[in-house]
Amino acid sequence: MKRIYLDYAATTPTHLDVVATMLPYFSEAYGNPSAIHAYGQEARGAMEEARTRVARLIGAQDEEIVFTGSGTEADNFALKGTAYASENKGNHIITTPIEHHAVLETCHFLEKRGFKVTYLPVDEHGLVNPEDVRRAITAKTILVSVMHANNEIGTIEPIAEIGKITREAGVYFHTDAVQTAGHLPINVAELGVDLLSMSAHKIYGPKGVGALYLRKGTKLTTFMHGGAQERGRRASTENVPNIVGFGRAAEIAQKELSEEAERLTFLRDKLINGLPWQIDHTRLNGHPRQRLPNNVNISISFAEGESMCLSLDLEGICASTGSACSSGSLEASHVLLGIGVPHEEAHASLRFSLGKWTAEEEIDRVLEVLPHIVARLRAMSPLLKNP
Ligand SMILES: *Cc1c(COP(=O)(O)O)cnc(C)c1O
Repeated sequence: MKRIYLDYAATTPTHLDVVATMLPYFSEAYGNPSAIHAYGQEARGAMEEARTRVARLIGAQDEEIVFTGSGTEADNFALKGTAYASENKGNHIITTPIEHHAVLETCHFLEKRGFKVTYLPVDEHGLVNPEDVRRAITAKTILVSVMHANNEIGTIEPIAEIGKITREAGVYFHTDAVQTAGHLPINVAELGVDLLSMSAHKIYGPKGVGALYLRKGTKLTTFMHGGAQERGRRASTENVPNIVGFGRAAEIAQKELSEEAERLTFLRDKLINGLPWQIDHTRLNGHPRQRLPNNVNISISFAEGESMCLSLDLEGICASTGSACSSGSLEASHVLLGIGVPHEEAHASLRFSLGKWTAEEEIDRVLEVLPHIVARLRAMSPLLKNP
């Protein structure tokens, strides 16, 4: 059976051009970029070229890009780094309840160590109201962290409006742009952010490499101690092949971004508009218009998310659900609960995330297969009241 991959928000296949660009840096140009000999300089040159490409993707200067081991590390670095660097100014952080765990769990860690965190309210679509940010800022506030777009429901936040407010208040502003850098046009100056997280494997680059944009002059305490790599901001011998791959992925993404967004928006809307025709009692989660071009998140009442996901998998369709019992406990998505979706509907959610190799026939296949799955599950569902 030919598989249909609709989980691009979780990770993407590495583009073959990216792999080809990386290969020489394993066993030919394998030097340590800190070394002054020819091998070292060759590796350093490639790494700096990659830095330029990543910087260009978001309108940053080369020296404002710090390569990290992942998007998660970039988020940790942004939050812990600014928190500890600004300790004598204050101890207050503002964020949202629908951030990625990389931000939320870091906030929980900091809360246990004396920092205070305000979780802003979000509306039923997951939008933050910039005025709520303004109201939440106090003399003790050191950082605001609001994601650019949500990885589960696709909602795009009003980052530029929030950026104006944080700038006026003189407070650092971080955005987790892992779902947007390489997918939407980004200019850090226009967004008004001081820190921005990215990850290569969400844009057809390799896993295990990310970057943190750090606006010039932003004070950050480093948490990897050792050598002076990345201008003393992140010790470790650089992962040159991965960094080179990230650079190539950023370059391709930038070139294809607008055309790809248009193509995906069409496919996304075909799925969003088609599902309620085929299946009753559905609801779209996330903002109807202000959403990622590749994100579809729906709740299908009286059908359990994980069962739908497993049934789709048997048909060769790979999607994801906001109802994960992977951790052992059946917990509904904090994002869906955070935007006020009732528990039952949060457990009845499916996320389809589209990407470069998604074809229209694949969307048609979902529209054909899912109604049968839902009918079967509903027929045996204890949740079935009177649909
Ligand atoms: C995937 C993702 C991350 C984590 O990035 P990794 O490189 O997988 O660690 C962080 N934030 C968001 C919004 C993501 O989608």
